[in-house]
Amino acid sequence: MIIKLKKDITENQLAAIIARITELECEVEKMKGSSYTVLGIIGNTATIDSKTFSVLDGVMSVAKITAPYKLVSREYQKENSVIKVGNVEFGNGDLCVIAGPCSVESAEQLDLTTKYIKETRANLLRGGIVKPRTSPYAFQGLEEKGLELMEAAREKYDLPIVCELMTIDQVERFGERLDMIQIGARNMQNFDLLKACGKVQTPILLKRGLSATIEEWLMSAEYISASGNKNIILCERGIRTFETAYRNVTDLNAIPFIKKLTHLPIIVDSSHSTGIDWMAEPVAKAALAVGADGLMLETHYKPEIALSDGPQSLDEQQFKSAMNSISRLFDFLQTDGE
Ligand code: PEP
Ligand code: MN
Repeated sequence: MIIKLKKDITENQLAAIIARITELECEVEKMKGSSYTVLGIIGNTATIDSKTFSVLDGVMSVAKITAPYKLVSREYQKENSVIKVGNVEFGNGDLCVIAGPCSVESAEQLDLTTKYIKETRANLLRGGIVKPRTSPYAFQGLEEKGLELMEAAREKYDLPIVCELMTIDQVERFGERLDMIQIGARNMQNFDLLKACGKVQTPILLKRGLSATIEEWLMSAEYISASGNKNIILCERGIRTFETAYRNVTDLNAIPFIKKLTHLPIIVDSSHSTGIDWMAEPVAKAALAVGADGLMLETHYKPEIALSDGPQSLDEQQFKSAMNSISRLFDFLQTDGE
């Protein structure tokens, strides 16, 4: 529920409204918009009549949020959220590209890969330190050692770092050492993990679940937001369909659709959404064209020896060429195609 406040509301009137909300065992959040101030009421508002508030002094109007997600909905906040990750702002119209290997494998691998990433317009470094693998016998990640290597790469190349975390314990131990925590597709509905992500202020990159609907995905974002962390970026990484020709199907519909429903930024990971190295670039460009706020691309200095996701990882030459082309399209779109 949203209460729009009168411009000339007094301190006492505001205090009375807040007291009434607290009495009803709901929480309140004050948001100062460009033209007016609103109070968002969070909690079980289903049975509360809007008249409860509309009769109070200082209230201009009361509106119910119809979506099941509240805090992340466009009804709740009209303006786009801009999420700052290191020195990069998602949702602010800048080109945001998260690039790096699927997994951190060694100091040499990460260094050789980051070196050429830095020569492009990619502006964040990714690298898995704990890996959700289908097989328990596959490479599981270097954990703490991998994080140390990512921290060293951040220092050397001046790039914010993004790593997936899979457990509450990892969020507590590693969360604040990262510039952004990735919650992977397989954990999108791990609700206790989402709540733990709400307890830190590190931005969260919330990937879409393998077969998650838009509503389920936004409800997961709501968990993080309602638990206290508003720094959320969504990531479309392909969904499962009957098609088996490629790893997943990039749901490009989701980009404009999500933007209608939520104020959160959304990016596209065209490496996981296609699973094929040469497809990552054209699909990334399509994502920018439909309004994505950023991209994720996997790259490895030697994809043929990668310990995970080699077939979808771009080598140096493919990556540089993709970034060149992506960068030119981005600049063209900035000019509104004039
Ligand atoms: C990854 O980013 O390496 C990854 C495992 O992604 P997803 O959760 O989208 O499969
Ligand atoms: Mn991967």
